[in-house]
Amino acid sequence: MEHTIEHNCPACNNGQAIIFLEVTDHFLSKEPFTLLKCESCGLVYTTPRPPLEKIGDYYKSEDYVSHSSTKKGLVNSVYNKVRNYTLNQKVKLVKRLVSGRDLLDVGAGTGHFLKRAQDNGFTVLGLEPDEDARTVARDQNNVTLQTLDSLSTLSPDSYDCVTMWHVLEHVYNLQEDTKQIASLIKEKGVWIIAVPNHTSFDGTHYGSYWAAYDVPRHLYHFSPETIVPFIEQLGFTLEEQLPMKFDAYYVSMLSEKYKGGSLLNALRIGWLSNMRSKNGKCSSQIYVFRKK
Ligand SMILES: [Zn+2]
Repeated sequence: MEHTIEHNCPACNNGQAIIFLEVTDHFLSKEPFTLLKCESCGLVYTTPRPPLEKIGDYYKSEDYVSHSSTKKGLVNSVYNKVRNYTLNQKVKLVKRLVSGRDLLDVGAGTGHFLKRAQDNGFTVLGLEPDEDARTVARDQNNVTLQTLDSLSTLSPDSYDCVTMWHVLEHVYNLQEDTKQIASLIKEKGVWIIAVPNHTSFDGTHYGSYWAAYDVPRHLYHFSPETIVPFIEQLGFTLEEQLPMKFDAYYVSMLSEKYKGGSLLNALRIGWLSNMRSKNGKCSSQIYVFRKK
């Protein structure tokens, strides 16, 4: 029998959860965390969650590639090469799906995507909580990002497209912020959300070593079964799901590093994962939602 734990779900407020997995912050602090699974909506989430004023400490590493452009080590070097390709793919996707020009990128990081979008004719605004990332965005990419505080000051129904590339799993006030973001999107506008998928082949294969659990930086661990209803209840319809095939290799490489495995194994698991990536089973997925 699975033991029920009293804990409020960050997505649906249901008070009962079960222990899903014990995981470690392999990347930085080596601290243990427990993943709980909501008995109602099925969301898997990280506990205990560091307080907001402490969470910044868990991002303080030069290795956190989302926020850095340093080419150091094989994994980072591959990551940077692949990033150029995926940036082009992302802009292509947005151009195909979005008819208007007003684009908001939430969690814009160092602004690489926004720069590309801007170069392709979009009127862009980016929000980013990390000050160092905002500085890099300004100095390297010539885009000015605002803090997350700006979210509450933006006008409703003013964006044709909101993008969140590997950001939703970090959002501290999940219900509040997603409601706010949903309100900013115009009727028939598009919300593009990319998140890791713990029900992927690599997710199940690596279990507690799976690098995309990335606790406690990742507060939620979505799957198609949990993210789709969560966003749809905000007045959206899922239009497309796209696999992020490079993520299967990248996440497998990091996972092998954490468990002392080999690059060859990582390539094998990444490949096997992508072979099974149809029907929403990729390591990371892009979800395209359209506002009703
Ligand atoms: Zn729930």
